[in-house]
Amino acid sequence: MEYRNTPHFIIKKNLQKSKNTGVYFSDVVTPDVLRDVCGLITGQADFTYQYVDNDYHDMFLETSYNKGRIAIMQYRNVVSYISFSEQEIGGRNSSVQSVPTAFNMYYNNSYPQKNLYYYFLNVEGNAETDYQILIYRLMNTIGFVFLNASPTLLQRINAFNSVEDIIFNRKINAGRNRSNNSTFITKSTSSEIEIYGKTYGANKYETSLMCYALANLWQPGQTIKLFEVLEGDLKELPASSLNVINQMGVIDVIPTDMTLEKIIYDKENSLRSPRFVLNLFNKLGNKHCALCNCEIPELIQGAHIWPVSAIKKAPALSLEQCLEYALDGENGLWLCENHHKMFDEGMLNFDHNGHLLLRNGIERRHMKFIDEITKYDVLPDEFLTGRFLWYLSQRTA
Ligand SMILES: [Zn+2]
Repeated sequence: MEYRNTPHFIIKKNLQKSKNTGVYFSDVVTPDVLRDVCGLITGQADFTYQYVDNDYHDMFLETSYNKGRIAIMQYRNVVSYISFSEQEIGGRNSSVQSVPTAFNMYYNNSYPQKNLYYYFLNVEGNAETDYQILIYRLMNTIGFVFLNASPTLLQRINAFNSVEDIIFNRKINAGRNRSNNSTFITKSTSSEIEIYGKTYGANKYETSLMCYALANLWQPGQTIKLFEVLEGDLKELPASSLNVINQMGVIDVIPTDMTLEKIIYDKENSLRSPRFVLNLFNKLGNKHCALCNCEIPELIQGAHIWPVSAIKKAPALSLEQCLEYALDGENGLWLCENHHKMFDEGMLNFDHNGHLLLRNGIERRHMKFIDEITKYDVLPDEFLTGRFLWYLSQRTA
């Protein structure tokens, strides 16, 4: 890179759909905006700039439209990647889309003197929803510096300081709006950190960002697995994101298509199906025992209502039907290891109103213990869907 005494910006002027929308990046990131950015980064008032077409390329920009909503600024021997917000914030995914792309470009460039910034354009809408704050904190965790967080945001953005910190905050966020969830982070009963993420559509951006942040916070001895939830012939994460994850080198990426699910189904009756777990997350929210509300993720398992071993023995079912039942989130509950074992052993069950039933003849001293560890004697109404009750009838048939 040539040494520059005056800050110099290079900006791709086309967005992906500029020809159709008539909105060009050069209309959004104007010289006035660049002046502000320049001052914030360098303290200098003088700068030069050029808007370039798609076919322009150099050591920082490839031949393309403006992926990542970025400007490149060169000053002395330092290159700065500046990613710009949307002007309308609030759409859950639109504001996240360009961020992993900008990060991928930054991360993949081997030039050593580089910085990564984020700049809020004059935004309309609420830039400070719980979801947005989560995203900003993830961005901060992977190294984005916010140039003008104040005055756009009232609260300070802090990086996450541990994997547990992310899991905990994700949980708070998820609790408010479960239906919005697409990426779940938890720990397995073998204490591995697990990410369940959709890897297509807008969700791929969120999943990428979560992975980068978790990889950044990885500690020796930790295992992190990303279960990519593939649907139909939809693809894995974009190659550029997978490439970054692989270079970070601490996340095992496991594509989970139906072929993998068939193998798991053939081999075992139990808990190893990523899709079943994901479907339980979608129905029930984060891991918590339905009977004692234990929230320690390492102790919580996905319990089948109609057990896989029984599904396998059911007459006249095709493999496809069996798999559907085995993977259906309606055919399950979160239970802690104690309650799951008691459920599987037949010590406890549920009637069709969701009331807890205990087997006759349990020793009194055990009854006392069960009583002590069991907080609820009825399942929440929302669990008791038609399909759930059908699985329950299959269990007791
Ligand atoms: Zn429990």
